[in-house]
Amino acid sequence: MKKAMLFLVCAVCGIMWLLMLKPDEPYLSPPVNPAKPDHPTFHSIEDAKPVMPFTMKKAADSEAANTAVSMQAEAVKLLHSLLSSSSAPQAPAVPQVPETPAKTVYLTFDDGPSGLTGEVLDILKENNVPATFFILGKQAEQRPELVSRIAEEGHAIGNHTYDHDYSQLYRKFTLFWDQIKQTEEIIRSITGERPQLLRAPGGTAGKFDETYFKLLKQAGYRVFDWNADSGDSKRIGVPADEIVRQSTMQTAGDEINLLLHDGAGHEETVKALPRIIEHYKEAGYRFAVLTPETAPVQFKVQSKVKPKESQPGSRWVAEHIVPNGQLFDQGKVLTLDMAGLAAEFQPGEYRIENGRLMVPLRSAVERLGGRVSWDAPSRTARVSLSGASWSADPGLGMLWSPHTSMKQPSEVMIWGNAVWIPLRDILHFSGHPLNHVVMKEHAYQIETL
Ligand SMILES: [Zn+2]
Repeated sequence: MKKAMLFLVCAVCGIMWLLMLKPDEPYLSPPVNPAKPDHPTFHSIEDAKPVMPFTMKKAADSEAANTAVSMQAEAVKLLHSLLSSSSAPQAPAVPQVPETPAKTVYLTFDDGPSGLTGEVLDILKENNVPATFFILGKQAEQRPELVSRIAEEGHAIGNHTYDHDYSQLYRKFTLFWDQIKQTEEIIRSITGERPQLLRAPGGTAGKFDETYFKLLKQAGYRVFDWNADSGDSKRIGVPADEIVRQSTMQTAGDEINLLLHDGAGHEETVKALPRIIEHYKEAGYRFAVLTPETAPVQFKVQSKVKPKESQPGSRWVAEHIVPNGQLFDQGKVLTLDMAGLAAEFQPGEYRIENGRLMVPLRSAVERLGGRVSWDAPSRTARVSLSGASWSADPGLGMLWSPHTSMKQPSEVMIWGNAVWIPLRDILHFSGHPLNHVVMKEHAYQIETL
């Protein structure tokens, strides 16, 4: 294996995306928003093994801590299989946990958006404080303009299931899952973002068994309960004075995660809100939105919650849970060393779809010092890289080399206006198949033969 000149592309390689397309040259174009790619729906992944995601640094979950080492080994193994065959995605990255100043209050509103949400947003705006809204898919469908407004005004959006129906949600995990995914798609269709934060209707206490916690975490979600309850849903019509009292007598400490509701019938909560905000401002709290990096408040699994009678099977987990984690994993840089030629892909510049690591063809080839030209009549990309020439037909899903008579099906395809291709196909057709993968904290390092 000859080492050629090291061709290190700048880490800020968003520049590569600026190779804009003409309309008849689809492969040249970047995705609409490469930093936040639009993830197509997942399909089943055969033979995928479940992998535990990395846990949050501050998560008080000893089980996660104990398994961190084996998880890392498992993740490396997975990435190997990812590059060599159709398999599972990598584990989510370790989130960065920013230092949080002492005394933070997270205002959280559940069950909206409703006819009251606009007023809540007005009050938050007047007071210049952010909040987190755990919204119901059913409500979001009816009031998409409020969902947009929540996002536009800098608040966080979390998923609170579709219809809040305990009898379905807590009967078995797959029913809960279906509502989470349904709501996620509704929210994404409105805001363009997938909510990673979840709040269980009624909270997890007495409702989640171990499987719920484990699989949601593995799927990349962050489940938040609360440590302070405004009491606004204790009964119908709790008066504002009582809500203020309950909301401001908290002893939860320096990080208060306050449960409030903006669903229908919570007019008294709206009345109470200015006084609650005033209280925490005077007490020196900062207001913040929950993020995936926020240490979650979670109720412990209660011993009275027996495992549900119906548990998802390993195949279901492999097909639904395992690929889901990659939706939220955009934290690692992908570095590629192909026979001494190096290229780097920032998070969001590559994707993992159907268990395959996909890169934009032109950008990947050019970063490795090759060239791509588009043959418009045949709608075929012609690649010249590392001394090899080959063609990719995204319409037929085929790759072939006119010189070596190599020919094989490929998941090469057009996404947006760009041609994307499994990275392993580029390596294979260029005569440098994968050698090994090194997983570092912030990067996947891929080396070829
Ligand atoms: Zn609720």
